[in-house]
Amino acid sequence: MPWPQSFRESAAMIGDQPLKQGKHQRRPGLSVLILPCLLALVSSAAPAQWLLENRDIMGTRITVELEHRDKIVGQQAIEAVMREMQRIDADMSPYKATSELARLNAGAASKPVIVSDELFWLLKRSKDFSRLTQGAFDITFASAGFLYDYRAHIKPGAKDLKQAVDAIDYHNIHLEPARHSVSFSKPGVKIDLGGIAKGHAVDNSITLLQKMGITNALVTAGGDSRVIGQRWGRPWQIGIRDPRDKNRLVAKIPLENVAVSTSGDYERFFDQDGVRYHHIINPKTGDSARELRSVTIIGSDATSTDALSTSIFVMGRERGLQLINRLPGIDAILVDNKGRMHYSEGLERAAASP
Ligand code: AMP
Ligand code: MG
Repeated sequence: MPWPQSFRESAAMIGDQPLKQGKHQRRPGLSVLILPCLLALVSSAAPAQWLLENRDIMGTRITVELEHRDKIVGQQAIEAVMREMQRIDADMSPYKATSELARLNAGAASKPVIVSDELFWLLKRSKDFSRLTQGAFDITFASAGFLYDYRAHIKPGAKDLKQAVDAIDYHNIHLEPARHSVSFSKPGVKIDLGGIAKGHAVDNSITLLQKMGITNALVTAGGDSRVIGQRWGRPWQIGIRDPRDKNRLVAKIPLENVAVSTSGDYERFFDQDGVRYHHIINPKTGDSARELRSVTIIGSDATSTDALSTSIFVMGRERGLQLINRLPGIDAILVDNKGRMHYSEGLERAAASP
């Protein structure tokens, strides 16, 4: 799989010391002669307008923050992102009976269902991540996932769970590239793109903003964010919350031109008899993964960081970090079930360098 450019190459820092490289480095020695011309240009241009908007879409909080000289154009850009989020939600929510995904879940065990290029591509990427993570990421987890209702504190009984786990296996999804059709190899297979669709929506939104000429922006969908450029001339700051105290941060990372995703066991959960039942499911057992409390992944695109944050959560510390350390351009910050923090080798190096 072609992995995006290195996080360490674009901008890496943890704490206050940015490691700026490449295109973020200021060029030395601007000519004294051309400086007055530049100043004249700057003073005649409209001042930068920063716009910020939060809305609830896709069952999560969407945040867009961006800079544009023209406030009206900036607002139009924000509306375009919100529309994109709504479109992806309408197509890919497994809970909306009219969505393309619901149609697929309802029909693909009986006969092949032809799907859009976009859904086909996302299913293909999902299967790529399943192979990469040795099945920790598996969108057919939904066969078991649908048996939980975190709000109502409902979990499946052992018999139902066993039957559902039998249907979990990404090999049960057959993708036929020529017709873009999808079929499931047995009844009971269901898919849910909750572990990758928000990242995809964030990537689409950033592409959209870039096409509109915007160079400084942040788009966040729940735990998935991507930033381009800077904020008020400084790197963007993304906080990682304490998994057991939403008012406390365990780390603050300054970033430029990267994507960051956090998966945590505090997003959708209930506690019963001292055990936490939450929305990240180990495909082998159909039960929630419990070795970690949160996983943050930093990379260059949000589709990858989203899928990997969910995957590493399932894989746990040792296997998870082993995988991250061999993927160029990807870094991770883990909080384990004792509240201890662990970092990928790239971040350890970044933190250690002067
Ligand atoms: P995230 O929001 O990225 O932490 O992903 C959590 C979401 O991913 C859940 O709400 C589910 O929709 C989905 N999910 C849970 N377990 C898995 C898994 N093992 N593989 C793929 N997706 C999953
Ligand atoms: Mg994720």
